[in-house]
Amino acid sequence: MTGAGSRRRSLAILAATLLVLTVAASAGAQYYPPGPPGNGVVISDDGLVLPVREIRDDGYLVTTTCWNEGVVTGGTYISHVEVVIDPGHGGSETGAVGSNGLTEKALNLTISNLLIEELRDRGFNAILTRTTDVRIPIVVRAEIARALKPDVFLSLHHNGGATARSDLPGTEMYHQIESANSRRLAGILYEEVQQALAVYDVAWRKTVFQGASSVLRVEVQDDLYGILQYTPGIATVITEAAYLSTPAEARLLADPEVQRVEAVAIADGIERYLTTTDPGSGFNPMFSTSRKLSAGGPGGCKDPELGDIGVDEPGFDDVPDGTHRPAIDALRDAGILDGTECGPDLFCPRQPIKRWMMAVWLVRALDGADPAPITESRFVDAPPDRWWTPYVERLAELEVTRGCGSGPARFCPYDLVTRGQMASFLKRAFDLGAGRPSGFVDTAGSTHAEAIDAVASSGITRGCGVLPPHYCPGANTTKSQTATFLGRALELVPRVPSLGGRG
Ligand SMILES: [Zn+2]
Repeated sequence: MTGAGSRRRSLAILAATLLVLTVAASAGAQYYPPGPPGNGVVISDDGLVLPVREIRDDGYLVTTTCWNEGVVTGGTYISHVEVVIDPGHGGSETGAVGSNGLTEKALNLTISNLLIEELRDRGFNAILTRTTDVRIPIVVRAEIARALKPDVFLSLHHNGGATARSDLPGTEMYHQIESANSRRLAGILYEEVQQALAVYDVAWRKTVFQGASSVLRVEVQDDLYGILQYTPGIATVITEAAYLSTPAEARLLADPEVQRVEAVAIADGIERYLTTTDPGSGFNPMFSTSRKLSAGGPGGCKDPELGDIGVDEPGFDDVPDGTHRPAIDALRDAGILDGTECGPDLFCPRQPIKRWMMAVWLVRALDGADPAPITESRFVDAPPDRWWTPYVERLAELEVTRGCGSGPARFCPYDLVTRGQMASFLKRAFDLGAGRPSGFVDTAGSTHAEAIDAVASSGITRGCGVLPPHYCPGANTTKSQTATFLGRALELVPRVPSLGGRG
């Protein structure tokens, strides 16, 4: 398996000790690496997100919050996420301050918390770079992103310093000069956030940057903003929704309802970016500058007291004891669920499973290993740069899926999986023979009826209800149900007496 499961278990038995080596990070011409990309992060009990530089027998060599080096044991290890939200500023860096005393660092965190909840409610695996009022240099925020290689990295800010009056919000989205993905994400986010805020009638302010923009710093011939410059290959955007420095806008942004509206608009944008090919709009021609930004560096940053990083308790915090828990725990221990959590120690058990996630679980279950990286994908809607695409490709290679459409071939990675479809996937994946009639009263005429009989005869399902026995073939399969199907198929948990046997 991936090894992460056993690694996690062995760490859990180590004493939760922490040694901060306080090796001064050497600032090279470029701020990356130190950590190899894709190594994951460790999250402490206090919510500090520590990018992993090296996985060792005795713990993790990590980058600390202030860009030093440290060794930690325990904590929650996260290998992949779909979305990283980076609430701008924190600690001694307040960011913009409204005339009503609202600080940008607090506002950014409040909206980021609402956004992360919204994303998890929609079944996305998302984490924050900070959950508390802590200072984090930009190089560390970028390193967190590189360690996780998310599909979306969003640095969430609110603006200051506008001068010109405007009929519409001065919303700005900054994207990476070199990245078509970053640019498309910025254009979609601009549409969503601008539309959501424009319904409010206040004395808006704007600058020439209103819209989706990129800024070249001529001396380095690269992005002006470090967070965009230090995250190559990751679709990164800075959102600057409205001007906190304008009294009317500061009052508006202090309203919890408006904060929620902004969070939902950003979630809508992220979902559209991930699940559609919409091009976005509001693009400006590239700006150039000789200005060098001074804020956000690591100089003078003092690492917060890490203290007890915490021993990772086995199991997810949001999975109740009951039918599905044994299978979920077993799959987690086997490393099959790595990267498909919905947050640190969160599984979101009632969320319907998406096709890409099912592919990840099935491939790990069948191969007992992660697939090799790929540079090309047979499906147009499974881009090679998504971390789960190699699993989709492998699932097709194993002839468990042919995709969801042809001309060009598509996989529909974000579509949900009905229980009927799941039966067909399981029958093909585990090569189940034809089963006896299952006796379910709701499967006659279903294209998946034979597969459902096979899955029931193998003791992988008992259906969704009794008196009379039902299978609910049209209902979406939840993550819990999928875990139980898979746990039984792999015999990590006992199979159930088959209904068909009773005649
Ligand atoms: Zn800011």
